[in-house]
Amino acid sequence: MNPPVSASPRGGAAIRFAEQDRFLVRDIQRLSGTNLSSCFHCRTCGNGCPFVQAMDYPPNAIIRLVQFGMRQRALESSTIWICVGCHTCSVQCPMNIDIAAVMATLRRLALEEGAMIAETNILDFHREVLHSIKRYGRAHKLGIMLRYKARVRQWFADLDVGLKMLARRKMDLRASKVKAISEITRLFIPHWKR
Ligand code: SF4
Ligand code: SF4
Repeated sequence: MNPPVSASPRGGAAIRFAEQDRFLVRDIQRLSGTNLSSCFHCRTCGNGCPFVQAMDYPPNAIIRLVQFGMRQRALESSTIWICVGCHTCSVQCPMNIDIAAVMATLRRLALEEGAMIAETNILDFHREVLHSIKRYGRAHKLGIMLRYKARVRQWFADLDVGLKMLARRKMDLRASKVKAISEITRLFIPHWKR
């Protein structure tokens, strides 16, 4: 017999109780340091988010998925990768919920648990930024873009923008290393990846 069905966060596909993980909200609260239970779904976060149009769930619906224990849907959503961590939502939330920290926590869990990554290109870009920081202690834009394009095999996408940036000296041809590279690396790279 099929399990009972609950409401969807967007009125779309129904959520099945069988998918619920009753520890999810507790886990996310502990890891992100923010109290999700106080969210009353006013949607202020989504209204202020500059990238909400590109997301599959608006930010408050991600909170709802976590509250419902919908682990797989939350970890496999595109929203958590589209989010750039700008904190616009976090500063506007009337309940002081740090939504950006929730998104970062969900990204971390998605990687740790081997979830299907909805936006692999964005993850590839994150990896190249971290590679640059690990190697030089800073983001070397040209190196990041070249390595990223080699990964995704899209050599000519945004080429005009890259050439303009080079012409205006917004990108250094050669990467320079910062002196305190080990301290910078400690800030950005998790200890298990150093
Ligand atoms: S702004 Fe805060 S309270 Fe309102 S929906 Fe977003 S997380 Fe919930
Ligand atoms: S932190 Fe993420 S979810 Fe919040 S406003 Fe910025 S992009 Fe949107």
